[in-house]
Amino acid sequence: MSKQEVQFKKVVSHAKEYGYIFQSSEIYDGLSAVYDYAQNGVELKKNIRDYWWKAMVQMHDNIVGIDTAILMHPTTWKASGHVDAFNDPLIDNKDSKKRYRADVLIEDYCAKIETKIDKEVAKAEKRFGDAFNKDEFVSTNARVVNYQEKINTTLSRMSKSLEKEDLADVKALIEELDIADPLTGSKNWTDVKQFNLMFGTKLGASAENAMDLYLRPETAQGIFVNFLNVQKTGRMKIPFGIAQTGKAFRNEIVARQFIFRMREFEQMEMQFFIKPGTQAEWYEKWKETRLKWHLSLGMGAENYRFHDHEKLAHYADAATDIEFKFPFGFKELEGIHSRTDFDLNQHEQFSGKKLQYFDYEENKNYIPYVVETSIGLDRMFLAVFSNALVEETLENNTTRTVLKLPAVLAPNKAAILPLVKKDGLPEIAKMIVDDLKWDFNVAYDEKDAVGRRYRRQDANGTPFCITVDHNTLEDNTVTIRYRDTMDQNRVKIEDLREIIKQEVDVKTWLMKM
Ligand code: ATP
Repeated sequence: MSKQEVQFKKVVSHAKEYGYIFQSSEIYDGLSAVYDYAQNGVELKKNIRDYWWKAMVQMHDNIVGIDTAILMHPTTWKASGHVDAFNDPLIDNKDSKKRYRADVLIEDYCAKIETKIDKEVAKAEKRFGDAFNKDEFVSTNARVVNYQEKINTTLSRMSKSLEKEDLADVKALIEELDIADPLTGSKNWTDVKQFNLMFGTKLGASAENAMDLYLRPETAQGIFVNFLNVQKTGRMKIPFGIAQTGKAFRNEIVARQFIFRMREFEQMEMQFFIKPGTQAEWYEKWKETRLKWHLSLGMGAENYRFHDHEKLAHYADAATDIEFKFPFGFKELEGIHSRTDFDLNQHEQFSGKKLQYFDYEENKNYIPYVVETSIGLDRMFLAVFSNALVEETLENNTTRTVLKLPAVLAPNKAAILPLVKKDGLPEIAKMIVDDLKWDFNVAYDEKDAVGRRYRRQDANGTPFCITVDHNTLEDNTVTIRYRDTMDQNRVKIEDLREIIKQEVDVKTWLMKM
C-alpha cells in the first residue's frame, strides 16, 4: 500500500472512531457511497456551512439566500439539459465485472504521468539547489516536455471525442494507452456507453397517474426558477447573487473515495446575476474571492490550484475547478462556471414565462448572465478533515495523533477537565461548562488521567483544554492548553470566554480574506 493510501485509510478510520462519519445503514452492511454524519461530524459540517454562508450571504449586501425543495417540476430538468445531457461515459471490464467512468480512467492515466513530472522536478531541484528555475526546467527538459505533450494530446483528444459523442474513439483511446483495470490489471473492455446520473422517483398514489420526478442533481436550478421571485420581492439590482445550501443526488457510476464522491451529498452554490458582457470580469472576481475564502482557513496555499476546463459543459463559456490536494492527489473541490444566460433562457422557453430583468440605467429588458460558484460541502469536509489529521513525534519520542482543525470549524471549542474527581474540582469545571456553553460548544471530561484526556481531545480536534486543579480553589485560575502547540498558560476563569472567542470567532478568520 502506498503512503497516500495508508494516510487515506487512517482518515476514514479516524472519522469513524471519533464520531465524525459512519457508513449509512451500517448494521445492514451499509449502502454504497452513502454516509451519515455522527455527533462530531454534524457540528464540523454545520460550521463549514456557516463559514461559507457568512462569507457569501451575510458579508455581501447584494447576495441573499434561499432554500428550495429537492423535488421540482420534471420540466425543470428538461430545460436545464439534465435529462438529455447529464451523462457520464461508462465502461465495464469484462473479466472483473467492475464498472468505471471512461473519462476518469483516462484522467488517472494522465495523473500518473504528472506524478512522473513531479518526480523529475524534485530530482532536479535537489541537484541544482538555489539555482533551480522550475519554469525553465519544465519547458526545456526533454523528458518533461514529452510527458507534458502526452498529457495534452490525450486530454484534448478525449475532450473532443466526448464533445462529439464519439464513444468508440474514447474506447479506442483507452486501448491505445493500454489502460488496465486498476483493480485486476485486465484490459478486456466493453464499449463505452452513456449513463444518466439522475435518480428517478414518482409522485402520486396510483401507478397510472403517478408523475415521474427526479431527485435534484444540483441545487442551482432551484435558484434559477426563483430568479424573478427573489429579484422582485427583494428588490435586487444587478449585479446580485442568490445562494443556497442543500442536498443533491447523483447515481454515480463509480463511488469510491469515501465522502469525495457520494450518491447523496450537499452543495453550497451561489448564482451571481450580471449584465451580459461583464461575465469575464465577474468570473475572474469570483475565482479570486473563492480562493481567498479557502486560503483564510490556513490549510496551505500549496494545497490548492486552479484547473481551467478545456471541455466546457453545455451551459458554460468559461469554467474552472479549485482543486485541493486530497490524500489521493489533487481533485476538484469547487467549480466556478460562467453559465451565460443559458439556464434562464431555457426556463423562459420551457415555461413560457418571462425571466427578464429591467435595467433602469440602460432602460431595457434583458436576460442576465450568470457566474456560479459551486462547492460540495462533503468534499470540503474531507479536505478539512484529511488536512487536519497528523501524527506527530514528540520530544520524548512518543507519538500523538492530533486533528488540527481550523479552530473556527472545530466541533467542540474547549474541553473542561477537573484534574481529579474530588475536592470540589468537578463542580467548578461544570460551572465553567454551564457558563461557556451559552457561547460555544464545550465538552466536560473527567475520565482517565489528565494526559490521556489531552490526547483524546487532540484526536477529537478540540482547540483548547481547560484544566481545573487545586490552585483554582485558591485563586480562580485554570490552565489553558493549546492543542497545536501544547503550550499551557495560567489564566483567570473570567477571561476564558474572551480568550476562546479570539481564536474561534468567524470574524477573526474571515478578516484574513
Ligand atoms: P466531478 O467531476 O467530481 O464529478 P462535477 O464537475 O460533476 O464533479 P459539479 O457538477 O460542478 O461537479 O458540482 C459542484 C461541486 O459539487 C463539485 O465541485 C463537488 O465539490 C460537489 N460534488 C459533485 N458531485 C459530487 C458527489 N458525487 N459527491 C460529493 N460531492 C460532489
